[in-house]
Amino acid sequence: TVSVVLYTADLRVHDHPPLRAALEGAQEVVPLFVRDPAVDRAGFAAPNRLAFLADCLADLDRGLADRGGRLVVREGDTVSEVRTLVRQTGADEVHMAAGVTAFAREREARLRKALEDDGCRLYVHDGVVTVVPPGDVLPHGSDHFAVFTPYYRRWTAEPLRTPLSAPASLRVPSDVRSERIRRRSAVADVSPGLAVGGESEGRRLLGSWLARHLDTYQERHDDLAGDVTSRLSPHLHFGAVSATEAVHRAGRRGGEGAEAFVRQLCWRDFHHQVLAARPEAAGADYRPRQDRWRRGADAEADLAAWREGRTGYPVVDAAMRQLAHEGWMHNRGRLITASFLVKTLYIDWREGARHFLSLLVDGDVANNQLNWQWVAGTGTDTRPQRVLNPVRQAKRYDPDGSYVRRWVPELADLDGPAVHEPWRLTGLDRASVDYPDPLVELPEALERFRQARSAA
Ligand code: FAD
Repeated sequence: TVSVVLYTADLRVHDHPPLRAALEGAQEVVPLFVRDPAVDRAGFAAPNRLAFLADCLADLDRGLADRGGRLVVREGDTVSEVRTLVRQTGADEVHMAAGVTAFAREREARLRKALEDDGCRLYVHDGVVTVVPPGDVLPHGSDHFAVFTPYYRRWTAEPLRTPLSAPASLRVPSDVRSERIRRRSAVADVSPGLAVGGESEGRRLLGSWLARHLDTYQERHDDLAGDVTSRLSPHLHFGAVSATEAVHRAGRRGGEGAEAFVRQLCWRDFHHQVLAARPEAAGADYRPRQDRWRRGADAEADLAAWREGRTGYPVVDAAMRQLAHEGWMHNRGRLITASFLVKTLYIDWREGARHFLSLLVDGDVANNQLNWQWVAGTGTDTRPQRVLNPVRQAKRYDPDGSYVRRWVPELADLDGPAVHEPWRLTGLDRASVDYPDPLVELPEALERFRQARSAA
């Protein structure tokens, strides 16, 4: 007998329940990835993610080859390609991970229907993409948790699945055609400092980061210049690292750092369960407000300055330039830049979310859209009126200014925290620094936001 394993956001051989189940039921297994143009059309594709995906697929192929198998890649509509493969191989089972987005669930439903017509069974496995499947823990009287803390309490009380080892060996039918796996170098417009993808790299990073930085994560996760968060987000986004395994391995080491890190992984599940219950929150306000966001030429010019990292607020510009250079930004930078766009410039969160998604290597519908909504106060933040002051944030989380000097070379000669307020320079000192004045004064912007919000 033959089973197909359809890979989507779970590009790994370790801790892979669909692969394990397929191997238990069949003599031969076809691990399949479909490059589906509908994914690109839905706006999920961006050069940085395509390049990282290319690494992941090449590494998955190697991981399978080390065990006697290989990855089969096809290009086209996922449902048609799976169907064709099932007919070609005589497979009687297809295994895949449960999806969370509306796109993934619609694809799953179409696949189920098509395979039923062909007499093939589809097994959809929960707990592959997230630790706790969306909908598994629920508050009284609702189909999802809208507030993080009670969700976290219930989430931590759930039993944790023991991570599965990678299979020792597998057999793939020899006569199955596969497209060539595209290389990362074939993707244009990739950020120069983009990280390397793939399960091997993800597992190496997980192991080394846990050993070196987990214990101090609680104190240091907001240190912009220190840059000691795990950077596992793209590996988790593509499923090259299992979130369940990350929780398990961190939990085994224990301590305050582990607790704080696992809590962040819970945020990932939290946003996924919100999106699963409210798919429209990918584009519409989760808590509808009547914001009359700024539009027109002035707002367009401010948006362009924000995107390009020339707002005149050094920490904002540093973080936006990090995003362009690496396709990744530190979480504290994401909070500061998003708050700046939405609350200081009073520009629609969707503009910011779109720009982030065009660059972020971990760009993820659940995490990106719902974190943007959280910052915009249209989402699950219980204090929707809070506004982050970029200067105070900079002094607190980049106290000696190293992060700003790293990313804004025009300011590299300014010492210490003075780098956060270049407008305080006078005379020749100011004239010698080729850096823009602030787009807007903070008290004025705060007043504009408060007035607009009280009307909204
Ligand atoms: P660590 O601090 O090491 O945390 C470990 C893991 O926990 C992360 O890899 C991530 O999977 C998860 N995590 C941490 N914080 C959050 C959070 N607030 N929400 C959800 N999961 C979290 N994360 C994405 O993965 N994709 C996105 O598209 C994304 N967009 C964001 C947009 C905005 C405006 C904001 C404020 C945050 C966004 N985040 C997003 C969340 C967070 O910033 C990143 O997950 C984190 O910076 C990744 O770095 P890390 O792996 O070193 O994180």
